[in-house]
Amino acid sequence: MKKTNKLTIAEKKKPWYQEGLQFKCTGCGKCCTGAPGAVWLKNKEIDSISAYLKISKEDFLRRYTRIIDGRISLIEKERFDCIFLEGKFCSVYPVRPVQCQTFPFWPSLLESKENWDAAKSSCEGISHEAPVIDIEIIEKEKARYLEP
Ligand code: SF4
Ligand code: SF4
Repeated sequence: MKKTNKLTIAEKKKPWYQEGLQFKCTGCGKCCTGAPGAVWLKNKEIDSISAYLKISKEDFLRRYTRIIDGRISLIEKERFDCIFLEGKFCSVYPVRPVQCQTFPFWPSLLESKENWDAAKSSCEGISHEAPVIDIEIIEKEKARYLEP
């Protein structure tokens, strides 16, 4: 059988990050502040954060959230800090939203190498010094992000 340069269908489907991506969170806290942004909340996260704070769901929604384009997001403090950012730390860390848990393995950043590389300017954990995260873990995190 002659070898050709043509890619097989399976090879064409391989994502650009097939060999994994280098990432290790340094805990700098920059992804919880910086430019204005939204931290979207799923219903089960509203329940779990309310329970963690030992307040009612209604109280949580009133004190810590806002509606953007019909969706529920956490509010921001001055300088666009997330409402739950205290110093460099998340005050609801054990129950932080999946959006926070799965960063930087978001579909939007995994869409292209250009998007991934652009995220380096706001996250020092995406670095050549960091260990390689396997594609299986990356895909699992991406799927968690996409869960309703
Ligand atoms: S910006 Fe990156 S390195 Fe810093 S806390 Fe966020 S994920 Fe970790
Ligand atoms: S909920 Fe916690 S981890 Fe998520 S943006 Fe706010 S402070 Fe950061």
